[in-house]
Amino acid sequence: MERKMEESTVRDGDTGSETGGEDALVGNVNKLMVSPPGYSGAPRKGHLVFDACFESGNLGRVDYISEFEFDLFIRPDTCNPRFRVWFNFTVENVRETQRVIFNVVNFSKTKSLYRDGMSPVVKSTSRPKWQRLPAKNVYYYRCPDHRRNYVMSFAFCFDREEDVYQFAYCYPYTYSRLQHYLASLERRNLPYLQREQLGLSVQQRRLDLLTITNSDHLSPEKEKKLVFLTARVHPGESPASFVCQGVIDFLVSLHPVAQILRDHVIFKIVPMLNPDGVYLGNYRCSLMGFDLNRHWQDPSPWAHPTLHAVKQLIVQMNQDPRVSLEFYIDVHAHSTMLNGFMYGNVFEDEERVQRQAVFPRLLCQNAPDFSFSNTSFNRDVVKAGTGRRFLGGLLDDTSYCYTLEVSFYSYMTAGSTAPVPYTEETYMKLGRNVARTFLDYYKLSNLINDNRPTHIQSAEVMSQTLDGKDNGVGRDAANKGREKSQGVRH
Ligand SMILES: [Zn+2]
Repeated sequence: MERKMEESTVRDGDTGSETGGEDALVGNVNKLMVSPPGYSGAPRKGHLVFDACFESGNLGRVDYISEFEFDLFIRPDTCNPRFRVWFNFTVENVRETQRVIFNVVNFSKTKSLYRDGMSPVVKSTSRPKWQRLPAKNVYYYRCPDHRRNYVMSFAFCFDREEDVYQFAYCYPYTYSRLQHYLASLERRNLPYLQREQLGLSVQQRRLDLLTITNSDHLSPEKEKKLVFLTARVHPGESPASFVCQGVIDFLVSLHPVAQILRDHVIFKIVPMLNPDGVYLGNYRCSLMGFDLNRHWQDPSPWAHPTLHAVKQLIVQMNQDPRVSLEFYIDVHAHSTMLNGFMYGNVFEDEERVQRQAVFPRLLCQNAPDFSFSNTSFNRDVVKAGTGRRFLGGLLDDTSYCYTLEVSFYSYMTAGSTAPVPYTEETYMKLGRNVARTFLDYYKLSNLINDNRPTHIQSAEVMSQTLDGKDNGVGRDAANKGREKSQGVRH
């Protein structure tokens, strides 16, 4: 059953076009040709064909406004009409030099980085690398024609008749892409990497768990320091997958810091907590419409099986006296803030509060796009069911639980005057910087006294080192007060 489903969905979501439509998802447009009203002749070039019946696809409806203008409707999350943010669809049968305006008219959120210059991403058959549209072609405004809803309009000029064009809210990272990536890791037969299936989703997709450590740590006698990382509990937050892959790539690499970390720490990583939601092209919910990041207190094995399995594993490890679970980090993407930043918990004990701030401070030194001043610690009631809050209450006072957020759009660095849009590569780089920060943390806390040299003179390491020297002034100022005024959630 699982096999069958996987095979029928592998369409190489990362490079080519995704135009198949045989396994239609309820509610997505399926090779929909939009011709002028009343037109009954043969289809012509320029009668656009819209499709979202592919993995992580989302487009619910298209209205013809004029030859040059189309209203687009996001398909709500399955079983939860409240969430309409993620879109991902293809357009074909275009005419050369055809100029159009697409209006995305039914976003469920009003606050958006579109106000700050964010733009959708696009690729086409002959140009398979995703790129952001020029910000000057994107408009975000309250529209009198749509009950004063916020509408995001973008202008686009098609230029190659044979190309299939694909547009998305942000760089997609599909379930199949993850499966390909994990399979390629497995083929390397690394002695310090283990992949296992921790469970299955409601639709029988794999819940993967990676364990990265030098294998002598796995003998039962040794006391183990453990770092636990999860991502994609919110399926539309695709940047979280790039960050997570950056963490994994670094930890399995030959970089000297990675080698020391593997000698001293066990990393457990669940790269996709909500595989059904990702597959379906949802923004926030699972197949059954649950925001899984509100169900940590009491996940059900049938309604929230992936969350249930992860929670069980964590609870079980926490009861093992030989395991010291030191970090839990859940990776998300943020739709209104810039930069990378963290949320943490609040404690009565001031010393614990200070200790909790150490990791984000160190990360701020290592990652030019990470902002410490955006990092905040809270105890909001609405976030009680989140992984960070629940585990913060469960684990003992030597553990730290964070949500790591990264902007869907961009970051400010010290001295930069304009935001720098994130790319797939810079998201991954944030992940690598997160991973290497663990060594700084453990050295600072004297938990690792390993004096092997950690600097290799590769161009990349040099640039990371140079990048790390900024003091974060620009990025911090850019975001001041942003969250407070925007009532965001994660
Ligand atoms: Zn989130």
